Amino acid sequence: MPTSSSSSLAQSGLADVIALQPAFEPERIAVHVSRNAERAVRRGELWVFQEAVLRTRGEARAGDIAVLYDAKDKPFALGLWDPNSPLRIRVLSPTLGVQIDDAWVEAAVQRAVEARLAHFDAKETNGYRLLHGPGDGMPGMVVDRYANTCVIKIYSEAWLAWLPVVARTLAQYEGFSCGILRLNRQLQARTKRLAPYREGLLLWGSEEVLTSQFRENGLRFEVDPRLGQKTGFFLDQRENRARVEAIAAGQDTLNVFCYTGGFSLYAARGGAPRVVSVDASQPAMDALARNVHLNKNDASVARARFDNRCVDAFVALEELAKTHRRFGLVIIDPPSFAKRNDEVETALSAYRRLARMAVPLVKEGGTLVFASCSSRIDEAQLEAALLEGAADAKRSLNIYERVGHPFDHPIARGELQYLKTLYARIA
Ligand code: SAH
Repeated sequence: MPTSSSSSLAQSGLADVIALQPAFEPERIAVHVSRNAERAVRRGELWVFQEAVLRTRGEARAGDIAVLYDAKDKPFALGLWDPNSPLRIRVLSPTLGVQIDDAWVEAAVQRAVEARLAHFDAKETNGYRLLHGPGDGMPGMVVDRYANTCVIKIYSEAWLAWLPVVARTLAQYEGFSCGILRLNRQLQARTKRLAPYREGLLLWGSEEVLTSQFRENGLRFEVDPRLGQKTGFFLDQRENRARVEAIAAGQDTLNVFCYTGGFSLYAARGGAPRVVSVDASQPAMDALARNVHLNKNDASVARARFDNRCVDAFVALEELAKTHRRFGLVIIDPPSFAKRNDEVETALSAYRRLARMAVPLVKEGGTLVFASCSSRIDEAQLEAALLEGAADAKRSLNIYERVGHPFDHPIARGELQYLKTLYARIA
């Protein structure tokens, strides 16, 4: 529960960069948008690009509140203004009648945090997403929790204006004793303008207590909230990892794009005798080796034999094909192949190729877990790529389960489901 007395704020150790920041007083600016944008926003679209902005009255700063006007000169929605991004407005409310201020932001953060605190048993799982952008009403920001450390990741300069209230709100929770700021790649390139904010900045707490570990379903993982990919871990795959554990008993397992070994550890705990893990990142593979060590108290993990390979996934799959080795369980969880619309075709052919290479490595009756985190590719396209790849490999398969987002990564109306995971039994 948050405590709101000022003494608890002092104890929460807010860094000067937050503590000394004057409250942000947003201006409201009138923004006339195109008819198409108006219709889209009324339907639930959360983004308005610069081309759809017809005119504005006044100079506005990043973080000011855009009042969207329709063609009849009527205001109808509210959003966050970002003058330095082609994604000019992130919609915060598709209707009028709300006041977007510190209290609004504080309430949105508290709502998101409290839903997670009620959902997770921290003794088992203390790493999860506390706030998931649009799904929690704040498009352009995510917050992840790793034990005592909150990692706030910002995708729009507009949210930096509101960062102090977000940090203060989180720092009031007992147990969230550290906060780290992460910026997306575009923002990282603007260091001068964003000062004093920067990638990896400590927002509250101290270096000494910054966490380097967390628990997920009782397994221990190390995490580097400052340097790890995303915010340090791929928390969105937690439920799929648990599913893998449930079907791993007795199955030799191949985990491709393994990062720090999430799926590998779950497979081992589920009783996989041998686990081959593949990733091109050496720091990730080093962390995997340490994660295995961290979980040696589990008898199944201690028994499993791990074979960790730091190599390009396509190369590893080719090499494995030559060995005629087969696996009862294969997991393919690649990075996003389509970050832009014009990358969709290339991405689909990469998925087909991965399927064509992975399916033959699965023994008869075994399972292939095939995931995509490309938001521009939908489940039907992914399924088609998997089926085509299998057909190219002259194998047939039965897709028996399709899994979407977990509880802590809610999808907003109008937002794309980026994460899709297919489970296929290979004939
Ligand atoms: N399955 C992981 C998350 C995978 S994220 C988990 O549960 O935690 C995608 C991973 O693919 C990253 O670790 C990245 O280092 C790796 N990667 C990207 N391109 C690759 C390539 N060509 N070959 C092998 N690994 C690659």
